[in-house]
Amino acid sequence: MSADGILRVAINAPLSRLFDYRMPESGQAVPGSRVEVPFGRRTQTGVVLEVAEESELPVSKLKSATKVLDKEPLFSATDLWLIRFVSNYYHHPIGEVAAAAMPALLRQGKALNPLVQYLSATAAGKDTALDALRKKAPKQALLLEVIVDADSISFPELDKALPDWRRARKGLVDKGLVETYEAIDNDGGDALANIEQEPGPDLNPDQRAALKCIREMEGFAVNVVNGVTGSGKTEIYLHLIASELDEGRQVLVLVPEIGLTPQLVRRFRRRLGIEPLLLHSGLNDTERLQTWRTARNGSAQLVVGTRSAVFAPLKNPGLIIVDEEHDSSLKQQEGLRYSARDLAVARAKKLDIPVILGSATPSLETLQRCRDNAYQSVELPTRAGNAAPPLLRLVDLTSHDAFDGLSAPVAIAIEKNIASGGQVLVFLNRRGFAPTLICTSCGKVSECARCDSRMTVHSASNCLRCHHCGAERPVESQCADCGSNCRPLGQGTERLEEALKGRFPGEVVTRVDSDTTRLKGEMSKALAMATSGETRILVGTQMLSKGHHFPNLTLVVVINADQGLFSTDFRGAEKLAQSLVQVAGRAGREKRQGEVIIQTAFPRHPFWTELFSGGYQGVTDSVLIEREKTLWPPFSRIALIRSSATKRNDTYAFLKLAKCWAEDSGIEGVRVLGPVSAPMERKAGRYRAQLLFQSRDRAALHRLLAHLRTSLEGSTEARRVRWSIDVDPIELF
Ligand code: ADP
Ligand code: ZN
Ligand code: ZN
Repeated sequence: MSADGILRVAINAPLSRLFDYRMPESGQAVPGSRVEVPFGRRTQTGVVLEVAEESELPVSKLKSATKVLDKEPLFSATDLWLIRFVSNYYHHPIGEVAAAAMPALLRQGKALNPLVQYLSATAAGKDTALDALRKKAPKQALLLEVIVDADSISFPELDKALPDWRRARKGLVDKGLVETYEAIDNDGGDALANIEQEPGPDLNPDQRAALKCIREMEGFAVNVVNGVTGSGKTEIYLHLIASELDEGRQVLVLVPEIGLTPQLVRRFRRRLGIEPLLLHSGLNDTERLQTWRTARNGSAQLVVGTRSAVFAPLKNPGLIIVDEEHDSSLKQQEGLRYSARDLAVARAKKLDIPVILGSATPSLETLQRCRDNAYQSVELPTRAGNAAPPLLRLVDLTSHDAFDGLSAPVAIAIEKNIASGGQVLVFLNRRGFAPTLICTSCGKVSECARCDSRMTVHSASNCLRCHHCGAERPVESQCADCGSNCRPLGQGTERLEEALKGRFPGEVVTRVDSDTTRLKGEMSKALAMATSGETRILVGTQMLSKGHHFPNLTLVVVINADQGLFSTDFRGAEKLAQSLVQVAGRAGREKRQGEVIIQTAFPRHPFWTELFSGGYQGVTDSVLIEREKTLWPPFSRIALIRSSATKRNDTYAFLKLAKCWAEDSGIEGVRVLGPVSAPMERKAGRYRAQLLFQSRDRAALHRLLAHLRTSLEGSTEARRVRWSIDVDPIELF
């Protein structure tokens, strides 16, 4: 047995186990460092989780790792703990978890601190008369000036600062004025440039009380900041962040979508006087590595990111904040299906630091934990400053006809608001022109060839598009069955925009949905126009409902909420209440009274009574009673095994096997329901179905899932399907 020890390595492959290797001759690997190893016919980058005394296999059978990629561990002990925790809790292959926890370049085996090229001025360059050069070669003069000022500057920094610098560089090098050298990336050095700090408002009594409660807790505590929209939750975050920064500790803030929150980032920057480090999907590989590194080495004090930032390594963390904790985008819905909110709590517990979960509409899981006193709840029941809560009313679509989706009372209210200088937000959670194309004679509906779904009409591109698989084809003007004319049926945001422009000519109408904001910069442009008040009518999907502050917005119109009333998902009412309360929260955030109008064809549905008499809490109180009776979460734990295949039989054979093994496992106290088909069974040509596991005994549920994971992994049935385990799913299909 070699004295060096055996490396137990996590490899990015869909297998749960670790792989044993001998220590390479060339170097000493420690837990947390990456190694290059032979795997199958290729070499792979893996992460050493342990260095063990011995292996279950004879040492002579083990291969050697070929290279140690990190002399110092890349992952700290807590980082490794998190990787293991995620793998165990979500029953996901550990190598894939480790891979998800690092940026692409590190997965590929690149160095943590890569060498980058720098430019510096030669003695001749420093002595050059810039004025003279400016006349002959202005671009060279500009570059030289930047280089001389900075002493030396890296290529990536120049890429950011001077888009056109490369050609100018060649001229300067030829003249002997600058030279290139290679060194370890200094991460931009002065990113902490002086940003003028702005003072904030004095906290009101509710905010002061909340802050006091939070500060009284020591070490790990989950603090739920349950405050109505505009109640000043962000002010509380700012105070807490400032104290951590003063103590020299780092803060991690998780937000649903960074593209949607430029206002929040700007507010952090101005109020704290520092540049927040942003971690989101818009970064390229080099930027991603750099941000990861500055989080890890502690030079980034405030890290703001979307869900994957929960894995960001932090040298000296003091606080984690999860804003809009109820938001479904905090849960990854494919691959490794983790909840960034739940992991933030687990990570804070391990680190023994506080975590803040903020929302105007907390999830029922979080509310129930507050009731159980596992979490501390602090409440901000009123809007900060002088803003009053918005007034809500329903418009009954059975007694008011709607034209282009707009009923008469809504049209009148929009007109009145605009006439008096207000701004209007029209909310419809359906993009495209119309959700259906229908034959006027036989009623045939245009369907997707690969999914059990209808095609959405998009008029700008004159095509039919499937929102489930992305398939596209030209709009059919005539019915394939009977040859009669087809017409679009129903409302999408595109059609609504057209109708609003027609009814309110001369007013600026801006549409915000994933079609209009696909291009970089479009979202912030639209938000800036809305914030300045230039846009008079905003129309869009739930992208508009999240966190924005439009000072002039006085009226919110919800075109249609009825789908949510009859959802088959047990979370239907919770989600509907969240989305309505969030979008309503955009109205009247400053001086003027806000108004919210919701159109419905079912005005007598009990949901409305609960919402109108008790607000969000009215709905959640009643839903919690219902869930307790029926034993749905948060009163039980659930998990899914999903499966899909091009043959329906394969999908079912796999799930039946899983059910069989679950029943034979001898593990008691877990209900197994199914297999059942997804409501939209066929998607992108694959048949989808699932098994549901439900239990009040979390440990038993996890024992069963672990058992199934390992047995199913090697089965022949598994090879015919794509399958996954989803723990704490938020969507049942
Ligand atoms: P939330 O995060 O709960 O939506 P914000 O912190 O964004 O609330 O506050 C909403 C608005 O009220 C902002 O314009 C903010 O500047 C203002 N505000 C917050 N706290 C106070 C306060 N104590 N006094 C006056 N204005 C406040
Ligand atoms: Zn027809
Ligand atoms: Zn499709």
